[in-house]
Amino acid sequence: MASELEPEVQAIDRSLLECSAEEIAGKWLQATDLTREVYQHLAHYVPKIYCRGPNPFPQKEDMLAQHVLLGPMEWYLCGEDPAFGFPKLEQANKPSHLCGRVFKVGEPTYSCRDCAVDPTCVLCMECFLGSIHRDHRYRMTTSGGGGFCDCGDTEAWKEGPYCQKHELNTSEIEEEEDPLVHLSEDVIARTYNIFAIMFRYAVEILTWEKESELPADLEMVEKSDTYYCMLFNDEVHTYEQVIYTLQKAVNCTQKEAIGFATTVDRDGRRSVRYGDFQYCEQAKSVIVRNTIRQTKPLKVQVMHSSIVAHQNFGLKLLSWLGSIIGYSDGLRRILCQVGLQEGPDGENSSLVDRLMLSDSKLWKGARSVYHQLFMSSLLMDLKYKKLFAVRFAKNYQQLQRDFMEDDHERAVSVTALSVQFFTAPTLARMLITEENLMSIIIKTFMDHLRHRDAQGRFQFERYTALQAFKFRRVQSLILDLKYVLISKPTEWSDELRQKFLEGFDAFLELLKCMQGMDPITRQVGQHIEMEPEWEAAFTLQMKLTHVISMMQDWCASDEKVLIEAYKKCLAVLMQCHGGYTDGEQPITLSICGHSVETIRYCVSQEKVSIHLPVSRLLAGLHVLLSKSEVAYKFPELLPLSELSPPMLIEHPLRCLVLCAQVHAGMWRRNGFSLVNQIYYYHNVKCRREMFDKDVVMLQTGVSMMDPNHFLMIMLSRFELYQIFSTPDYGKRFSSEITHKDVVQQNNTLIEEMLYLIIMLVGERFSPGVGQVNATDEIKREIIHQLSIKPMAHSELVKSLPEDENKETGMESVIEAVAHFKKPGLTGRGMYELKPECAKEFNLYFYHFSRAEQSKAEEAQRKLKRQNREDTALPPPVLPPFCPLFASLVNILQSDVMLCIMGTILQWAVEHNGYAWSESMLQRVLHLIGMALQEEKQHLENVTEEHVVTFTFTQKISKPGEAPKNSPSILAMLETLQNAPYLEVHKDMIRWILKTFNAVKKMRESSPTSPVAETEGTIMEESSRDKDKAERKRKAEIARLRREKIMAQMSEMQRHFIDENKELFQQTLELDASTSAVLDNSPVASDMTLTALGPTQTQVPEQRQFVTCILCQEEQEVKVESRAMVLAAFVQRSTVLSKNRSKFIQDPEKYDPLFMHPDLSCGTHTSSCGHIMHAHCWQRYFDSVQAKEQRRQQRLRLHTSYDVENGEFLCPLCECLSNTVIPLLLPPRNIFNKLNFSDQPNLTQWIRTISQQIKALQFLRKEESTPNNASTKNSENVDELQLPERFRPDFRPKNPYSESIKEMLTTFGTATYKVGLKVHPNEEDPRVPIMCWGSCAYTIQSIERILSDEDKPLFGPLPCRLDDCLRSLTRFAAAHWTVASLSVVQGHFCKLFASLVPNDSHEELPCILDIDMFHLLVGLVLAFPALQCQDFSGISLGTGDLHIFHLVTMAHIIQILLTSCTEENGMDQENPTCEEESAVLALYKTLHQYTGSALKEIPSGWHLWRSVRAGIMPFLKCSALFFHYLNGVPSPPDIQVPGTSHFEHLCNYLSLPNNLFCLFQENSEIMNSLIESWCHNSEVKRYLEGERDAIRYPRESNKLINLPEDYSSLINQASNFSCPKSGGDKSRAPTLCLVCGSLLCSQSYCCQTELEGEDVGACTAHTYSCGSGVGIFLRVRECQVLFLAGKTKGCFYSPPYLDDYGETDQGLRRGNPLHLCKERFKKIQKLWHQHSVTEEIGHAQEANQTLVGIDWQHL
Ligand SMILES: [Zn+2]
Ligand SMILES: [Zn+2]
Ligand SMILES: [Zn+2]
Ligand SMILES: [Zn+2]
Ligand SMILES: [Zn+2]
Ligand SMILES: [Zn+2]
Ligand SMILES: [Zn+2]
Repeated sequence: MASELEPEVQAIDRSLLECSAEEIAGKWLQATDLTREVYQHLAHYVPKIYCRGPNPFPQKEDMLAQHVLLGPMEWYLCGEDPAFGFPKLEQANKPSHLCGRVFKVGEPTYSCRDCAVDPTCVLCMECFLGSIHRDHRYRMTTSGGGGFCDCGDTEAWKEGPYCQKHELNTSEIEEEEDPLVHLSEDVIARTYNIFAIMFRYAVEILTWEKESELPADLEMVEKSDTYYCMLFNDEVHTYEQVIYTLQKAVNCTQKEAIGFATTVDRDGRRSVRYGDFQYCEQAKSVIVRNTIRQTKPLKVQVMHSSIVAHQNFGLKLLSWLGSIIGYSDGLRRILCQVGLQEGPDGENSSLVDRLMLSDSKLWKGARSVYHQLFMSSLLMDLKYKKLFAVRFAKNYQQLQRDFMEDDHERAVSVTALSVQFFTAPTLARMLITEENLMSIIIKTFMDHLRHRDAQGRFQFERYTALQAFKFRRVQSLILDLKYVLISKPTEWSDELRQKFLEGFDAFLELLKCMQGMDPITRQVGQHIEMEPEWEAAFTLQMKLTHVISMMQDWCASDEKVLIEAYKKCLAVLMQCHGGYTDGEQPITLSICGHSVETIRYCVSQEKVSIHLPVSRLLAGLHVLLSKSEVAYKFPELLPLSELSPPMLIEHPLRCLVLCAQVHAGMWRRNGFSLVNQIYYYHNVKCRREMFDKDVVMLQTGVSMMDPNHFLMIMLSRFELYQIFSTPDYGKRFSSEITHKDVVQQNNTLIEEMLYLIIMLVGERFSPGVGQVNATDEIKREIIHQLSIKPMAHSELVKSLPEDENKETGMESVIEAVAHFKKPGLTGRGMYELKPECAKEFNLYFYHFSRAEQSKAEEAQRKLKRQNREDTALPPPVLPPFCPLFASLVNILQSDVMLCIMGTILQWAVEHNGYAWSESMLQRVLHLIGMALQEEKQHLENVTEEHVVTFTFTQKISKPGEAPKNSPSILAMLETLQNAPYLEVHKDMIRWILKTFNAVKKMRESSPTSPVAETEGTIMEESSRDKDKAERKRKAEIARLRREKIMAQMSEMQRHFIDENKELFQQTLELDASTSAVLDNSPVASDMTLTALGPTQTQVPEQRQFVTCILCQEEQEVKVESRAMVLAAFVQRSTVLSKNRSKFIQDPEKYDPLFMHPDLSCGTHTSSCGHIMHAHCWQRYFDSVQAKEQRRQQRLRLHTSYDVENGEFLCPLCECLSNTVIPLLLPPRNIFNKLNFSDQPNLTQWIRTISQQIKALQFLRKEESTPNNASTKNSENVDELQLPERFRPDFRPKNPYSESIKEMLTTFGTATYKVGLKVHPNEEDPRVPIMCWGSCAYTIQSIERILSDEDKPLFGPLPCRLDDCLRSLTRFAAAHWTVASLSVVQGHFCKLFASLVPNDSHEELPCILDIDMFHLLVGLVLAFPALQCQDFSGISLGTGDLHIFHLVTMAHIIQILLTSCTEENGMDQENPTCEEESAVLALYKTLHQYTGSALKEIPSGWHLWRSVRAGIMPFLKCSALFFHYLNGVPSPPDIQVPGTSHFEHLCNYLSLPNNLFCLFQENSEIMNSLIESWCHNSEVKRYLEGERDAIRYPRESNKLINLPEDYSSLINQASNFSCPKSGGDKSRAPTLCLVCGSLLCSQSYCCQTELEGEDVGACTAHTYSCGSGVGIFLRVRECQVLFLAGKTKGCFYSPPYLDDYGETDQGLRRGNPLHLCKERFKKIQKLWHQHSVTEEIGHAQEANQTLVGIDWQHL
């Protein structure tokens, strides 16, 4: 299609290009009716530029629009060439001191926790870095797009409002200077004209609703029949639905459909078809028909192309206006004027109003364009921001109504701009006083929640889906209210008071609708049928929590307001519950001679609600009054006399009783909804304005009542009145009621009631209730949290209530109460409670959940035992109450309380006769303790003239009255002290008695009783003896427990892995403790050890016995016995790769014989080192496979391993494995002929081998010529002149047992299959190559790790690594015995030919392109296949040595050719040595052979240094290789860390210390070989600079460098846009830590097809960058992602920590994050060790949900 249209477009281009902007502008300047002139121009040209075909051509359109449409306007505006005009304007401008940068999606934003007025005040990165806040406590978040930088807004910051950059401009601003003074009259007039026309045009066309007709003044003369079928975005239909529908409706491919859907989602609309009306209409009807089944069909319009054209230009125009006003504040002001100027239709007719009011009708793209324009114009001009705010407030109700109807997210709604006005303090206050904003918001909110019950309360039950949806949207209004309230007034005007109180009235109306909502009735008999709806009410409560708190804060800041608010609140509460006694006959309660009237009401029988916001608000205000002076100075101002305490406490008490009954299990049949409500009632998110305030309300009420009356009412509400009012009721009760449940229920209720009394008296840490400040309160919270256990910062934050600024206030006090413990390599930093704070611990702290309470109790007792203290946990000393609450303490010494205490103690004394519980007793003891503490404090603080009225000690010494002659409380305590059944409480009782005596002593007025004294001391002494006995008993118990634990331990050891997981995850922790030292007994330590060659050190054969982990049988490893195998994991690897862009294109044709020195793709083998019989493993694997098949059929679940690909978990350690390696003896010993006399030197040997090769090649040729088949050997061999004693027809006997042979094939095939990613084929000639390659690659990777960590080559290695390398090397050396002899010989010949050229191999890589270590391993391991037919007496050892020397020399040449010595500018240190002259000589030779192409000769010293450095890795690898191959122990020198060990290595490897001697000794043959290497054309090209080559030593690959500060990563990612969908921001930017690529992950746009499946960008990237394995950082989430293959993945903790030693996965907390180098190293180490796949396996085994994730879509 595009190509057809091309010529047409071109033609138009030419006619358009003839337009001259200057001329048009000139015409406009002359025009009398400018509007008509401009509109005609637009009507003519816009449709010629935009919308010429099915797809937009944005670049072309932009170019033409600039030329034909915008250019003239710019000329007109400037009155000259805008290229000169605009810079002039810019220069004349005094730039704004506001930053105003509009945030992109994902861009980091910063808020200062010390200085920001509220958390919505943010800075862009640039401003932040230039501000004082970078050294403050700041929070970092990523923007969701929209919103702008508040730098320069003095109202947003308490301090430092300007960054360095914006500060510069502040010195010059005079307040409120009119920016227009910088513009000339002409420019002002012209700007005004053109802005007015263009802005109106844009608004008009964007809000145009007709589909095929244009506004009259834009209508064209001739109208073409070209239409668009326009698809609009909605939030109802999913991506998948849209894609599916489009494929059907417009017949496009899935790819195109995805493209359409993506654009619709991003821009809000997209044309999906272009053509005549009919054609488009047809598509529309298909789309509508296909989507009508959902709640509503997709929105589609068939629009005339010219309308779409004008709309597109309208958008362009708005952006243009936005950029033009950037030149000058004057232009900006003119635009603001134009926008806000009222139109001809009066009210609401300004352009800004019109746009706002059509917001919900506009598509997403249009909205975001005009929102941005508003942000850069109206919001940047302080004068007009105010006017705009007024417009916004006036339209508020309508805008919200539109928003409710609309289904787009709030972020794309104009209502989201509220944050810009409402959080600015002066604006907000202006809007409150002038526009009555508070009332408007609240009323609008109420308008949208119309569903009420009979009492006028909100009702969420039976909400329809639509109502629920609205309810979700309406919550944003609460957010607006929060914004308005967020900055408290510093000064109150009368108007503000009036309007605030008006708003407060509205708010009370709202709360009134919540008071008593969702009432519940206890369900008896049957379980409820349907869980009632409860979440909506709680959502509302939760959202309002901060608003309620802020309302109180506002009230607190002005006494007049506070008193008024208090009165209003009380009045509303009376309205709600005034008639609470209605229709009820009062009943009379009496105990101990006190009596009180109350109503008959049972929580367990009647309706009760957990929602009491009005009561709670009143409680809050009461506390504030208590804090202020009014309450004491002018009590007459308060309506205190109107208060009816019983009315105040009634509803909160019911609510608390409800909780108690739920705990007692009485409401079980009411289902989970109730359990959830109770949970949230106490939860940290709600409790501040729920549970806490109920306690305060009770305290308030009780402080105004006779405590005896209160206690009786409470007993009655708890339905416990009878038990305590009737003597002996308890006894009868327990004997008569046999129903255990009921007894248990009552016990719990009594416990809960006592707990409540403890709270009422003990909770004095809210300022206003007790004489404390906010710091004391938070300290106490923290102390109690840390009493449970040490906690991380984030855990603590979660347990504390946050204020509206998301602050807990914790940081200011934490140091005072806790020590910080830094984190290690894993885990988090922890806070531990300071020991001296333990005395403030209150076991009955009211915010403990039950579980927390028992944990804290246990922890605190344990601590005390550790400190060898008694284990009593007495109540802490409390701060005094504020005067309004002071009378609360009298509860403790009231008669009814003493009666309750006495009764319970009595039960405990006669413990068999009653139903009672230890917790009950424990609470009573705690209450007694509190009373004693209280009395003690009273006595301590008493002044002369006062009498202490708190006389608890006296009261408990007196015998009781009610049951005749019952003993005193004190006497009962003394009895209980010796009760054997109260072991646990003994320490507490003893503490009480001791305190009692101390208090008694203090009370001088009362005479001390000597009897009691002595009793006391005797008690103490006897108790000391008892103590000893007790300790002994406890020690015995402890011993028994230890034994039991030991028994359990040994049981557990069978589940080996779980216990040792840590051990297995640490692959390479090279400390001696976890590893075995290699060859602990060197044969002869004084002898020089040699690993190879004729002088190889002979090691006596050691017999090796191993045990199979599956059958536990022991067996010796022998050539002919059954095979033993190690579990192993083979994987492809690019860890060592020096060229990540290279990967195997066609694995079927790929020839792996020569490894390129870039090591771009290797095969790595690892093993956990666990040994099994081959047949035991076979059986195990078969069973795993069978099990897996069954499981998959049943559950369709994935496992962490892929059975079909041969994967399994090691049966012992659950390490991921995919094959097994056979265990072998050193294979060379089997074949080696130990005849070392008369061996050939290198030159002779090469000649011999060359002859043998020639012979073989000749024979091979004969074989492959079919007609000679019959007569092959006999004649031709004669012809060839076979080398002496070479018998190519000889076939050696395979020494291995069948079972070992089978395993050799198994592992070989696995290596081949995985390494090349091909189907297994054991006959493939490449199998042996892959085996050798894997051996070489694995050794190289281990050598790298050791070098990188500065570990000695033969230092202690972990067993599993040692076993793996040994088995792998021996296996690779034995593999030729199961391969075809001629194949292996063929490989040898080819490898050999790469160094010693012969005629039949021409296309071999040059020596620059061969990895010499791979070559060495290949040659050495293939050599036996040739040598076995050689009967001339040349030993294998000789061959090994010569091969090694030859390859070493080739490597030296390789190094010399690629060395670039001029780079290291180091100066020579030592005088010339022998090596230097030798290397110089060699270099000269090279220079000569390369035809002087080699660079001029550098110094010998430099050359020698670079050779030595370059060859070290090779020597080290070779040492490892020959060590494992031949089993010669390593020299002790190389086992310790230290310098390079160059000499030791040379000795061990049979090399001369001066490596160049090799060349000198063998100069005869070497000269010709070197010459042949140098003559290779590739070498020439390299030397002439036409190609590159790898240099030596190769540097180790590292993960990319990460910045220290995480925000720079976020910034980097926010600048990253999806590479496929033109400049779109990527939603999940993900960084490859291996190569540094940024990817657009987890998104349709960047999915690609890989092996026939759609995969996400990350998975696709792993295939090219990490051959299937990837390590990524998800930047938005701050999370490391490990991927392996398509199905495996896991998240790993990121290397970024905050100051508290914690990671922030998901970036939820926003604390500044810094790179933790150690943790990053750990990730790098996992990569280097090839343990990523294993790590994923372990993670998936530990967390099954990881298995279900579609990793391939990331
Ligand atoms: Zn900024
Ligand atoms: Zn700034
Ligand atoms: Zn600050
Ligand atoms: Zn076995
Ligand atoms: Zn294992
Ligand atoms: Zn993308
Ligand atoms: Zn990468």
